[in-house]
Amino acid sequence: MTHRTHSFHFVFLMSIVALLPLLLFPTGTQAASKLKVVTATTDMAALAEEVGGDRIDIESIARGYQDPHFVEAKPSFLLKLRKADLLIVVGLQLEIGWLPPLITQSGNPRIQVGAQGYLDASQFAEILEIPTGVVTRAMGDVHPLGNPHYWLDPENGRRIARGIQQKLAEMRPEDTAYFEQRFQSFNQRLSTAEKTWEGEMKPFRGRKVVTYHRSWPNFAKRYDLDVVGYIEPRPGIPPSPSHTLELIELMRREHVKVIMVEPYFDLKTPNSIGSQTGAQVVVMLPSVGGEKEVTDYFKLFDYDVALLTKAFAAAQ
Ligand SMILES: [Zn+2]
Repeated sequence: MTHRTHSFHFVFLMSIVALLPLLLFPTGTQAASKLKVVTATTDMAALAEEVGGDRIDIESIARGYQDPHFVEAKPSFLLKLRKADLLIVVGLQLEIGWLPPLITQSGNPRIQVGAQGYLDASQFAEILEIPTGVVTRAMGDVHPLGNPHYWLDPENGRRIARGIQQKLAEMRPEDTAYFEQRFQSFNQRLSTAEKTWEGEMKPFRGRKVVTYHRSWPNFAKRYDLDVVGYIEPRPGIPPSPSHTLELIELMRREHVKVIMVEPYFDLKTPNSIGSQTGAQVVVMLPSVGGEKEVTDYFKLFDYDVALLTKAFAAAQ
């Protein structure tokens, strides 16, 4: 009996809590409130912010210095997802290890897979390394549907921003012109920045590099870099001694002088490979927020291009 009374009180209390927002914020103001956008990663947040401006509230779940394949789920993520109007994911199973249960547990019907407020940005981008034939995660490969690090080509950034702009306009038709104008401004600034990045990278066309993870195929294609090997034997599989030995031989043969490493990997193996091959280890940022000063999509490329061109120039 006591138990029941408690449950009743609890349920009653929860109903009051659920009603509070309605009591505090009458429905009239709700329409004018900002669209609550949650993104899986900081890069999607940066692009959404470019087009959404002050008409959206934006939050990313993963931090820019974290490996987006392996994010530790926190209860605070659920709170964000519960309130979201729109969830933008990278897709291609990048977030499969941590996001799907959070979406389900959020109990928010607006952002469930297939709902209007669920947007998979991979549909807008050029996707590389799409496997042919049947691929499963049984081998541990974390890229079974193609390479999910596609935002690292500014052209894909442009396409994603356009896709987000259209989704925002669909959800907030009264702000269509605003989102369009924001996209046009982003597009112009991106075109200007692309010319700078291309100019800076041009002298190093065809340069051979090794990367830790397969994070850079879109970047490498855009700037004509030749990725000849990876420290990981397969995406998501830690380096093994035999693979490392083969890689060192390959790098000596091909005269590879630069190793690109994502900030969330241990530098022990890269440094050891570097000292045995004379290659420089460069910690490149795959995401906005990887370092404090990298606060938007433009600064991400500014940072990486500056670092990489410096390393290439030193290797000449
Ligand atoms: Zn990956």
